[in-house]
Amino acid sequence: MTIRKIKSIKNAIYNIPLAEVLADAKHGDHTHFEVITCTITTTDGYEGTGYTYTGGKGGRAIFSLLEDEIKPGLIGQDASQIQQVWDRMYWGLHYVGRGGIVSFAMSAVDIALWDIKCKVLNKPLWQVAGGASNQTACYAGGIDLNFSQQKLLNNIQSYLNRGFHAVKIKVGKEDYLEDVARVEAVRNLIGPNIKFMVDANYSMSEQQAITFANAIEHLDITWFEEPTLPDEYEMYGRIAKSTSIPLAMGENLHTYHEFTYAFANSNLGFVQPDASNIGGITGWLEISALAKQHNIPVCSHGMHELHVSLLSSQAHAGYLEVHSFPIDEYTTTPLQLKDGKALAPNIIGVGVEFDSQLVTPHLVKSS
Ligand SMILES: [Mg+2]
Repeated sequence: MTIRKIKSIKNAIYNIPLAEVLADAKHGDHTHFEVITCTITTTDGYEGTGYTYTGGKGGRAIFSLLEDEIKPGLIGQDASQIQQVWDRMYWGLHYVGRGGIVSFAMSAVDIALWDIKCKVLNKPLWQVAGGASNQTACYAGGIDLNFSQQKLLNNIQSYLNRGFHAVKIKVGKEDYLEDVARVEAVRNLIGPNIKFMVDANYSMSEQQAITFANAIEHLDITWFEEPTLPDEYEMYGRIAKSTSIPLAMGENLHTYHEFTYAFANSNLGFVQPDASNIGGITGWLEISALAKQHNIPVCSHGMHELHVSLLSSQAHAGYLEVHSFPIDEYTTTPLQLKDGKALAPNIIGVGVEFDSQLVTPHLVKSS
């Protein structure tokens, strides 16, 4: 049997400007997003690249974790034993980690190892991860709380023009009646056949969330995302009992155990793990398996260029979020839609190859 040891690891961080300032209810203005890449080469000549991303802050700390804390312990490890490498990272940093930015750094390593795994098998990720399909339902996720109502509608129209059959907007205005008016205006624009979700980024109290949900129930909302703090698992359960709109969360749950609390207490209609912060593809597939046990469709958050393959691979997939951070535009194969569905690339590997001409101008530093 070939021994496939990790020979070298090269990390890099990029700070990529957004075309315009984007805002939600809790994180202020987004002007950039960060992409942190991890490229692993093996003693038998394979190379894989994984990555994670942020909303513009924290990336340097993730780079440092990869470069200074994780890399030294991985050189010489068996690259084909992904779970073993994963456990080594997790337990090595458990005391300062248990989620948080450690999960982001681990994700980049894990995805690089999956890239190598797929290349060894000579298959694209959607086949290796489950193979249920090569396409998935998806929606355009706007970060648009700072947009005027007219600009919001223009933006939603641009999603329809691109071929989306489902859209999401941010809510969480100071006066919830303004949110209600925006939701009504969007439903009027898109008509009855387009799926429609809303996302409060945990800006509401329990009572505010219930009041708002009850006020938009008649507008056929597919889900209400992160109404309140993600840590308030039982509060989600109570909100879910008070509205007919299904609840969704997951982007802020960064360990397996956090998801088990959500499944046990939060009465979710959809769950949204993000492979960039739940420990990569290994972590994402674990949460997907939990979702299946609980009969809940698995969805995603962010980095649609990778999640398109994961969602496609799972028979119980819900919707892929096509995020407002266009990481895919910096790769060799930007996301493609057909009849409202997103298509998983048939590239051997995880299907995300950064275009060096496009990303190099945004390089902050590399190892
Ligand atoms: Mg969200």
